[in-house]
Amino acid sequence: MILSARMLDDWDRCERRYAYTQNYVPKLISPLGVLYAALESALVALDPEQEAKDSTMRIAASQELILSELTGFLTIRHIGYLAGIIAVALRERLGILKSVQTLHNGSFEWESALFETTSGARHRIELVSHLDDDRLRACAHSWRVIGELAALQAPLTLTAVVIGANRGGRRHSEWAKGLLHPSNSVLRFARRNKARTGFNDAWIPVWREHRSEISTEKWLAAMKQDGVLDGLILSREIPYKPEDNRMVTAKREMAYLAGVMEGAHENAPMRRSSCDDWGGCPFARCCWSPTEATPADLPHLYSIQ
Ligand code: SF4
Repeated sequence: MILSARMLDDWDRCERRYAYTQNYVPKLISPLGVLYAALESALVALDPEQEAKDSTMRIAASQELILSELTGFLTIRHIGYLAGIIAVALRERLGILKSVQTLHNGSFEWESALFETTSGARHRIELVSHLDDDRLRACAHSWRVIGELAALQAPLTLTAVVIGANRGGRRHSEWAKGLLHPSNSVLRFARRNKARTGFNDAWIPVWREHRSEISTEKWLAAMKQDGVLDGLILSREIPYKPEDNRMVTAKREMAYLAGVMEGAHENAPMRRSSCDDWGGCPFARCCWSPTEATPADLPHLYSIQ
């Protein structure tokens, strides 16, 4: 059986969701899902920024976006630019990256979602709206970290990228939003003079996707100059200790779950507290339908695996 952190995560969140993913491919995708997919594709590309924009367009052409307030076009444009600048910043920091190959691990094949640098360091990239101790702990305890450690039996680096809160269909952070000086058009994010705070009302708030004349390099340089970049990409090394009880338990549970998950039921009870995690479950149109529906009843939204 093939096992991955995503599969274990789906199983943990909701057995029904896991069962659905084994049989159906949603034609619906959340903006956060597009952002992850575009970034993952961009990180290993020759031209990360162009690939981020191209893959965002490819996904938008083949899947239906779960939209909030913005139109599909504006959302896609926002995500393409956001994925592009994050990919460039990560590649500047980590260098050339490649995906970690699938590995045979006793009772299952492990499909890793880590990225490896040329020096062999392995990174788990997490996109978070904010980062505090609670969020960091939740990332470190997830299958995306514990599962990778236990399956690959090697240390990894958890690299969290803060993308800001999702409001009005956009991610509010310096990756996407800045202030332009009204007369000299200088781009700024924070005051460099610590004695003074705030910008006066004359500064013009701008979204990156509306200012294509400002190159990614220039936008990133302004972020660095204002000292905001370091707070948006944070890395924490996580050692692998084979004798640690947490690793022993995780390995035992993964071997057990690899068998149990094969018997997942589509009519397992709903897990309502999981329906809106991570930008929303793609099967919500079935579970939250006012009339009884399964993915098989909605072929315009789900195709058979
Ligand atoms: S919508 Fe909720 S109950 Fe339905 S599959 Fe998704 S997480 Fe499970």
